[in-house]
Amino acid sequence: MNIVVIGWGGDGHAPSAAVRELLGGARRLAQQSGGQVIGAALGGAAKAATGMIEYGADRVLIVDHPALAELDAEAYAAAAHVVCDQAGDALVLVPGDRLGWEVAPRLAHRLAAGLVTDCLAVDWEGGRFVMTKPVYGGKAMAKLAARTATQVALVRARAMEPLEPQTGRAGDVEALNVNLSPGRVKLLERKQEETQGQVRLEDAPVVVSGGRGLGGPEPFRMLEEIAQLVGGAVGASLAAVDAGWISPQHQVGQTGKSVAPDLYIAVGISGASQHVAGMSNSKTIVAINKDPEAPIFRVAHIGVVGDYKEVLPAFVAELRKIKGA
Ligand SMILES: Cc1cc2nc3c(=O)[nH]c(=O)nc-3n(C[C@H](O)[C@H](O)[C@H](O)COP(=O)(O)OP(=O)(O)OC[C@H]3O[C@@H](n4cnc5c(N)ncnc54)[C@H](O)[C@@H]3O)c2cc1C
Repeated sequence: MNIVVIGWGGDGHAPSAAVRELLGGARRLAQQSGGQVIGAALGGAAKAATGMIEYGADRVLIVDHPALAELDAEAYAAAAHVVCDQAGDALVLVPGDRLGWEVAPRLAHRLAAGLVTDCLAVDWEGGRFVMTKPVYGGKAMAKLAARTATQVALVRARAMEPLEPQTGRAGDVEALNVNLSPGRVKLLERKQEETQGQVRLEDAPVVVSGGRGLGGPEPFRMLEEIAQLVGGAVGASLAAVDAGWISPQHQVGQTGKSVAPDLYIAVGISGASQHVAGMSNSKTIVAINKDPEAPIFRVAHIGVVGDYKEVLPAFVAELRKIKGA
């Protein structure tokens, strides 16, 4: 069965990080399941069509149209549908970003396909694709398989690993002629998301998050310094956001952002299930909390029981020494 990777965004020739990850995951799955990896280069991602081949696609189908100039979910779902129609029965991987959350259900409906959202893994088991996703606010993992031949999986950022690009890798690139009607949603305003040191929270290899235990906005400066020293980003619990200590775009969790960095440092965060739902897929979790019974220690790989006011300054001093800052 073929695997379709839906792609948008990217920077010229380079597919977006999310698309590179999905292509890597698709390539590995295709080795087990057989079939081709078909990239859908939609809108501006048309420029990255050959880049998609280098990152693992066997074939890329381009759909570009003025209706795709804005991130209009209906237009993108229609464009993705055109590509899926060419692919036959397939597993369709959609990036789990904001547009993906809007496109995936629309696309699944158009394809009359089963949909699994928020996938942390897709595996080939017993002759079928099996998706793993967190349920009950991250307290448990569910394994799901669609009953339909074509199935759509919305995959979280960093759930799959990109491959090293192979420059000059051979593959077919074909532009499809489509007639898309403009969607029913009108873009009213565009706002640039605030990033620290150019690293988006979702893409950061290191996330340093603070919670209510920090006691105010000032200690977040220390977290910002750590993030800057290691090229990471600052996250927060809902409690810290609600207290007005940091802006909502930093919130990690069920109703915030999902992150899966190499290193997640939770400072003064209790580890409520709604918070854990957004960070439990991090490769290494370090928790600093003065309460040894705090639930965050159940998911942490390294736990420091102590007052952050004592632990963090020593940590920052050591980090500055290592970094020569
Ligand atoms: C529908 C719903 C959705 C939600 N979505 C989210 C979400 O997306 N993200 C999210 O984060 N929450 C979410 N929540 C809220 C969640 O349930 C918790 O209330 C919240 O995560 C608690 O934040 P906290 O850990 O910072 O605060 P607390 O639970 O108050 O924990 C503070 C921690 O700091 C420790 N501490 C205190 N002082 C110090 C110190 N000096 N040094 C070290 N440690 C210290 C304490 O021991 C404690 O463990 C949601 C809740 C609901 C109902």
